[in-house]
Amino acid sequence: AKAQGRGTYRIFAPEMDEHLRARLEMEADLRQALAAGQFELAYQPIFQLAQARLSGFEALLRWTHPRRGTVCPGLFIPLAEETGLIVEIGAWVLRRACEDIAGQPGELKVAINISPVQLAFGGIVETVGEVLRATGLDPGRLELEITETTLFADNQRNLDVLRRLRLLGVRIVLDDFGTGYSSLSHLRLFPLDKIKIDRSFVQEMPHRADSAAIVDALAALALRLGMTTTAEGIETAEQLDVVRRAGCTEGQGYYLGRPRPLQQALAEAGAAAGP
Ligand code: C2E
Ligand code: CA
Ligand code: CA
Ligand code: CA
Repeated sequence: AKAQGRGTYRIFAPEMDEHLRARLEMEADLRQALAAGQFELAYQPIFQLAQARLSGFEALLRWTHPRRGTVCPGLFIPLAEETGLIVEIGAWVLRRACEDIAGQPGELKVAINISPVQLAFGGIVETVGEVLRATGLDPGRLELEITETTLFADNQRNLDVLRRLRLLGVRIVLDDFGTGYSSLSHLRLFPLDKIKIDRSFVQEMPHRADSAAIVDALAALALRLGMTTTAEGIETAEQLDVVRRAGCTEGQGYYLGRPRPLQQALAEAGAAAGP
């Protein structure tokens, strides 16, 4: 029933209009969200596995839409990227997260997600430098998470940006490792401090010997290359057990703590004795 030419197109046209309208509406709302104070950060704890100690938090963006309620980043981040709004929103995330964590005693770290668009066009090195100066946060407490696909798409340029970021003293984390098509030689080519092992591996590990073997080898390789590893998406005690035995440095996931507003995240992570 698909190949019927123009007639079919007319049948689908109203639907496409609907889709486009919804998109344009969300885009218009997104443009105002920052000024209207509709963004907030949720903080998810990251624990050091060997010492069972809180290492810091990953800052995750939340948008409370006046009519739709909480919109998850999987829905609006792509739109923010297509429209370029992510540059301004991402700068807000950086500043807010650094302010929040600079206000906390101790050596707690904060990890922030950096979009490919920020990396390519956003003047990211300047923005990070400004935010560090303005908030007074020790650069060693700031981690920038960049996905595998982003990083290796434009080798030479990204390599340069990463080196300049590293000169500021911040740490670079390779996010979602294992979901893209990077080769191991990339790990050597780029100045990385940490690898985040994607949750798909973590969740398969208890049932699949091959996934467990890969994570095991990767954790060892990372250490040999002077990097650490974080296992993400830990949802059960069993998964926590296997990633710990695999030698991952840190762990993160619903089992250890969900993303929460800062004060609640601090209280929950402090109240629990750790993993
Ligand atoms: P991500 O960087 O891989 O972040 C981890 C996502 O996994 C978060 O989803 C988190 O809530 C979720 N998660 C944590 N533990 C578990 C678990 O045990 N099980 C499961 N199933 N999920 C878990 P969230 O907050 O919806 O964020 C989705 C993605 O949106 C993030 O993936 C990141 O790529 C992007 N994102 C979030 N905040 C920002 C931001 O400020 N800037 C940019 N550029 N991207 C962001
Ligand atoms: Ca991340
Ligand atoms: Ca991730
Ligand atoms: Ca992800």
